[in-house]
Amino acid sequence: MSAPPVSGTGRWVQRTWVVMGTYLTVRILHEDPVYAGRVLDDVIGLVQDLDRRFTLYDPSSELWALNRQAGGPAVPVSEPLWDILEQAIAYSRETKGAFDVTVGPIVQLWGFLEGPRRVPSDEEIAQARTRVGYRKIDRDPSRRMVRLTTPGMVLDFGGIAKGYALDRAVERLRQAGLRHGLLNFGGEIYAMGTSDGLDRPWTVIVRHPRRPDRVWQEFHVRDMAVSTSGDYERFFVARGRRYSHILSPWTGRPVETDVVSVTVVTPSATEADALSTAFFVMGPEQAQALVGSDRCRYVLWIRQQGDRLVEDPRSVWPPRPCPATTAGVREFGSLAVRQMGGPSVGTTLGVAPQIAYVCLVVSGLIGARIWATTGCFYA
Ligand code: AMP
Ligand code: MG
Repeated sequence: MSAPPVSGTGRWVQRTWVVMGTYLTVRILHEDPVYAGRVLDDVIGLVQDLDRRFTLYDPSSELWALNRQAGGPAVPVSEPLWDILEQAIAYSRETKGAFDVTVGPIVQLWGFLEGPRRVPSDEEIAQARTRVGYRKIDRDPSRRMVRLTTPGMVLDFGGIAKGYALDRAVERLRQAGLRHGLLNFGGEIYAMGTSDGLDRPWTVIVRHPRRPDRVWQEFHVRDMAVSTSGDYERFFVARGRRYSHILSPWTGRPVETDVVSVTVVTPSATEADALSTAFFVMGPEQAQALVGSDRCRYVLWIRQQGDRLVEDPRSVWPPRPCPATTAGVREFGSLAVRQMGGPSVGTTLGVAPQIAYVCLVVSGLIGARIWATTGCFYA
């Protein structure tokens, strides 16, 4: 697709679709709205294609076919499935298995995939855990073949797929000549370029995890992804305890932690998505070694302290530019932060199909400055 010229004076074009069980909103700046519309069609086509490949809700998906062969022969996989799996395994290694795409059997056991949500027995957990472990995946890169070595293994890309799709979408936008835009995928955000096509960075807000009408923190980014994982996204309560949808691959149980939410900011959306999930499992102590401006990874920890929520001091927010080191991102990302007192903002509610929670989507609500929020909240 050849690109007409872009300047800071273009027009914003925005569309929202329901895909991967949530909302994807893409807003781009271009002088030619017809061209921008074509680019957006292309982007949604790409994301829908990834959804069809990676879904666990459709027996005809490529992922389903791979899972069905668990314990059997190696299966040839498509380029995107190979790519997301490679990245997922790299993050598993880096996080010492806190992030693990083979968590499928325990996600299913606790009823987070299709329900009913329940607390399984120790025996069931022990049995499901024998089918979990990223080292049980064999890969042959020369032929792009994958073998799940243990019967009953289930790969689940739920902790990384939206981030991966965002990166592919941003790549496509850049190929089409676009430089400025905002992508919000059910609370996973990619802020591309600036919010005015010139020099004003995007403002992204992190909501108060227990008070959706309040802002916990706002920060200003360009060419950065923002992902939040938390105990308030999807959970159930049984016998007075709260069970989150993020599971510890080490115990086979929902993570037990006083971390309420962890927000990761980094130039790659795949990385932000995988690491926010992993960090929720790891906690600030263990995750500390994996963040910092030298890696261009920033993190905000919100923890429960008695009946108060507090920011953990191990949060990393250097308000200076960081060189984007991640493959595929050529530009420089930047991040700045302002602690908020907690003014309330308006919200737009939307119910996402397949999953029983509500994403609060905020855009353009405080003057022209706030365009995105991160975080989905259980309804
Ligand atoms: P996120 O909302 O990105 O933190 O991802 C949560 C989703 O990732 C869950 O709904 C599961 O499908 C999956 N998941 C849960 N625990 C893990 C884990 N430890 N590693 C990788 N994926 C996980
Ligand atoms: Mg994630």
